[in-house]
Amino acid sequence: MAHDEPQKPAGPAKLVIRNIGLLLSGKLEAPILDADTVVAVDGRITAVGREKDVDTEGATTVIDAHGTTLAPGLIDSHVHPVIGDWTPRQNQIGWIDSNLHGGVTTMISAGEVHMPGRPRDVVGLKAMAIFAQRAFWNLRPGGVKVHAGAPVIECEMVEEDFKELAAAGVKLLGEVGLGGVKDGPTARKMVGWARKYGIQSTIHTGGPSIPGSGLIDKDVVLEADTDVVGHINGGHTALPDDQIRCICEGCKRGLEIVHNGNERSALYTLRIAREMGDLHRVILGTDAPAGSGVQPLGILRMVSMLSSLGELPAELAFCLATGNTARMRQLDCGLIEVGRSADFVIMDKAQHSPGKNILESVQLGDLPGIGMTIIDGIVRTQRSRNTPPAGKVPEVVAK
Ligand SMILES: [Zn+2]
Repeated sequence: MAHDEPQKPAGPAKLVIRNIGLLLSGKLEAPILDADTVVAVDGRITAVGREKDVDTEGATTVIDAHGTTLAPGLIDSHVHPVIGDWTPRQNQIGWIDSNLHGGVTTMISAGEVHMPGRPRDVVGLKAMAIFAQRAFWNLRPGGVKVHAGAPVIECEMVEEDFKELAAAGVKLLGEVGLGGVKDGPTARKMVGWARKYGIQSTIHTGGPSIPGSGLIDKDVVLEADTDVVGHINGGHTALPDDQIRCICEGCKRGLEIVHNGNERSALYTLRIAREMGDLHRVILGTDAPAGSGVQPLGILRMVSMLSSLGELPAELAFCLATGNTARMRQLDCGLIEVGRSADFVIMDKAQHSPGKNILESVQLGDLPGIGMTIIDGIVRTQRSRNTPPAGKVPEVVAK
C-alpha cells in the first residue's frame, strides 16, 4: 500500500528486533517460526531468522524483545468507524487508539452505518463511501490502518454505480442487509457487480442488530454469496446451529466470528470449520462500536476464548486474527514474511497468569500482556494501558 506516512524519516529507516523468544507467523500451516530476529526497512520486513544469519548492520532502531513473543499486528475484520477517532454509537473518543493498545493494527469497515443522518439515496451513499475511504486513508488514528469506505447497498443501485465506486477507490461493501436490500436475488446481483469491479463484500448474518434492522437467514446468505459471511455467530442474535452448519458447508467463503455475537455459536462455528478442515476460512472481528460497546481487547478476548473453550492451540488461534484475515482480504500485513508490512504486536504472558508460557496461559483463558505495537516499522505504543501487565516487555535500546 502506497500510504504517505507523515512520520517517515528521511533516508532508509531500518528496524531490528532481536532476542525474540517466540515468533508467531500468522500462518496456520507453520504458526511458529524458528527465528529470534526480524528486520524491516522502510516499513517492510526484509529478513526473518537467527540473529547471526541476518544483516542487522546500519539499524536506525534496535529493539531488544527480552525473550517476549512477536506476532503480526492483529486485524479486526469487522468494525463500524464513522469519522476520525470518534464513534457516535457510544459517544466515545479515542476508541481506535484504545484498540491499538489491544494489539489491533488494522481494521476493516463493515459499513459506516453509525454516521448520524446517514444518507440512503444512491448519490448520497456513494459520496459518503468515497469520503470515508479518503478520510481514513489520510488519517490513521494512533497509526492504525482503517480500511473504510464501505457503502451499504440499496435497491435503486445499478451496475454503473459499482463501477464508479471502484474507480473512485472503494474496495469494500458494507454489510449487505443493513440497507434496503434484504432479499437473496437482489443481493446476489449487486454482490456480483461489486466483485466484477474488485469490491469485496460481506453480509449481516443472523437476527436484527437494532430496532429497524432485519433478519438475514441462511438462504439469503448462501444466495447473496458475499466474499465474507459477516458475523456468522450473529451481531447480536445468531442463526440456529443447523443454519450455521448449512452456511459452513454450503459455501467456501470466509466465516467471520465477532466479539459482539453469540459466543456459543462462535464455538459451534469453530468446531464445524475444524471438522471440515476449513480453519483457514475463520477470521475474527469485534463488530465494535456496537450496542455492546467498544471492545479494545475484543480481538485478544476472541483469541483467548476460542483457544480455551474451543480447545484450539493458541498459536493457531492467533492466525485467525492475523494471517487468515490478511489472506482473505488481500492485505499486505498479517504474516511474518519478507515483503510484508512491518506491523507487529509484542506480548508476554500476563503477570501472575498460570501456564508455563504465553501459549499455555492463553489456552487457559487468560489474555496476554502487550508490551509494544509497531506499524510500518515504527513503534506506536509501549506497555499497553489496557491489557494486564506483561511479565516482560521489549525495550528500544538504540535509536
Ligand atoms: Zn451486522
